[in-house]
Amino acid sequence: MTSSPTSFDIPKTSRAAVVTAFEKPLEIREIPIPELEPGAVLVKIDAATVCGSDVHLWDGSLAAIRPLELPIIPGHEMAGRVVALGSDGITDILGAPIELGERILFTQGRCGTCYHCTVAGQPNLCANRQNYGVNCETFPYLVGGFAEYCYVYPTSRKIKIPDAVKSEWASAASCALRTVIKAFDELGPLQSWQTVVIQGAGPLGLFATAVASHLGATRCIVVGDPADRLELAREWGATDTVSVAENPTAEARVQAVKDLTGGVGAEVVMEFSGARTAFGEGLAMVRRGGRFLVGGQVGPHTVEFEPTAITRGHIKVIGSFSASEAEYWRALQFMNDTRDRFDFDRMLSTRYSLDQVTDALAGMQGLREIKPVILPNGAEFTDV
Ligand SMILES: [Zn+2]
Ligand SMILES: [Zn+2]
Repeated sequence: MTSSPTSFDIPKTSRAAVVTAFEKPLEIREIPIPELEPGAVLVKIDAATVCGSDVHLWDGSLAAIRPLELPIIPGHEMAGRVVALGSDGITDILGAPIELGERILFTQGRCGTCYHCTVAGQPNLCANRQNYGVNCETFPYLVGGFAEYCYVYPTSRKIKIPDAVKSEWASAASCALRTVIKAFDELGPLQSWQTVVIQGAGPLGLFATAVASHLGATRCIVVGDPADRLELAREWGATDTVSVAENPTAEARVQAVKDLTGGVGAEVVMEFSGARTAFGEGLAMVRRGGRFLVGGQVGPHTVEFEPTAITRGHIKVIGSFSASEAEYWRALQFMNDTRDRFDFDRMLSTRYSLDQVTDALAGMQGLREIKPVILPNGAEFTDV
């Protein structure tokens, strides 16, 4: 491959919102725009959205999952416009050339040579995964979404965004929706007569409601809160909702699901709440012989449960983590194909500038917002 870098005019530095101390207001810093390695791409961020893990990075609890070496630019859900290419011949996942000015999503970096990437065909589990939201004082510095520009690793797979999919929606597809699409893949076929319970009415739970509805689930019960999220869940296809506030104990919520399913329990329960008690509760909601997909448990907590519930219950317990490039593509396609049925703007609440990222994180932490949108380069840049 010959190296003949091409780019639009780009500055020497980029403004970025930086976590310098846990739970303290983010600092705006000027971060150097790095030299591009062959295969790398520089994007100007069209829109970034806040994921629950960004809140956990900010409050420091994510350190239980992976090392957090501050200072860090948070943000790993983002849609960008290509402004510089590190070499010729950079393509999307379908082999089409990436052009300057195009809008893309990109995966975390994956090596393509480890056991998981190759033999197992599960690049979502890459042993050498390169994350976004890592230290911004070491090369390549600009690897977080809450900045004007972002460096795309050579090992990140690139996916083009369909014209009809807004950058804000695409951003939400790059972690939340692709995670949900992957979970449905892992779950296996869903029949229209099978009752689905979705635990959680946050971004994952709401996207899962939309996907279940689109796949033809005629009975979909969403367990969560607050009331405005349950209302959106009903708009997006939930036939019943179980409020956590109105059913404050796990027993009450399990009973509510039993009552709604003639005492049998649900064919399929999908856990997307991340709540500490959700595992035992969800397991108790599954009918004997049913399936339990655990998709929201990313914290380090432990729970007690009786394994016989799985054996004697003949329950398939399925884990699903992150996603591969295929699910990014399918998530974008889902938005493209269903945009008349689901108003994805309903999930994306307030728009924030780079200077207001602290407020956005606090709004999500306090459940006042479902998914805040960060527009590091201003609103006019997102028109499609
Ligand atoms: Zn995320
Ligand atoms: Zn790998």
